[in-house]
Amino acid sequence: MTFEYSAPENLLENKTIMITGAGDGIGKACAQCFVDHGATVILLSRSQDKLEALYDQIESTHPGKVIIHPMDFKIAVAQDYKALAESLNQQFPCLDGLIHNAALLGARSPIEFYPEQDWNDLMQVNVNSAFHLSKALIPALTQSEDARVIFTSSSVGRVGKAYWGAYGITKFAVEGLMQTMADELANTSSVRVNSLNPGGTRTQMRKDAYPAEDPATVPTADSIMPVYLYLMSPEAKSLHGQALSVRGFDPSEPEKA
Ligand code: NAP
Repeated sequence: MTFEYSAPENLLENKTIMITGAGDGIGKACAQCFVDHGATVILLSRSQDKLEALYDQIESTHPGKVIIHPMDFKIAVAQDYKALAESLNQQFPCLDGLIHNAALLGARSPIEFYPEQDWNDLMQVNVNSAFHLSKALIPALTQSEDARVIFTSSSVGRVGKAYWGAYGITKFAVEGLMQTMADELANTSSVRVNSLNPGGTRTQMRKDAYPAEDPATVPTADSIMPVYLYLMSPEAKSLHGQALSVRGFDPSEPEKA
């Protein structure tokens, strides 16, 4: 059953939310959806062109609500994340949301033949960026009265699957980072930390993973936004340290969500 959530238009008013991988796919849908519900969004992605196009799109209807920050996680180092956090600290009193969404798919191949370069690139983009960004932004998140961190997972990051190589393994790492941060922040802050498996979603990554699939049979990124919105809402305050999924999402039964 599809999760439905009728959020008021001002649900995220006065909230500042960062989204990584915002230039395309699910991250781009989150950016538009959060702004449509009143948030100011800080958008990170690799492609400057995609970010500028999205900036123009959002700015035309919601002036002053979007900041873009092109950043290639493959080559970024700790100092780049610290500098970003310091710059945001000058502009915003706190950070209310952080969506770790950027990821690379890499090769699908048996471990025996898995390319070393893909292994290193995926660790850097899918895991190290989430560590550095979380580390740099925890102080700003803890300043919020009700902050959310969402790590983007996958079914292959919860049960290992042949030939998914570094992609699945980086998602296992992301689940570990989520659990560790959730445990650390549980009693010392109001930051709620969860992971979310969006499930098969009609994006370029899905097309690359399943080239023979008819995209029309796969849910769009816009169609899964009710779950993202709910997780950012005050109603989701009791969800913490959970490995959640869009498919069958049911917040009244966290183990099913
Ligand atoms: P997508 O359309 O390929 O978008 C991925 C985003 O990540 C892009 O905006 C891309 O930036 C960004 N990115 C890639 N490499 C980067 C780098 N080196 N530095 C900074 N940003 C980088 O993928 P998606 O399907 O929306 O996936 C979003 C999340 O959902 C991922 O974590 C993915 O693992 C997860 N997921 C997706 C599905 C699915 O079926 N689509 C299923 C399960 C989980 P640019 O566009 O700027 O290049």
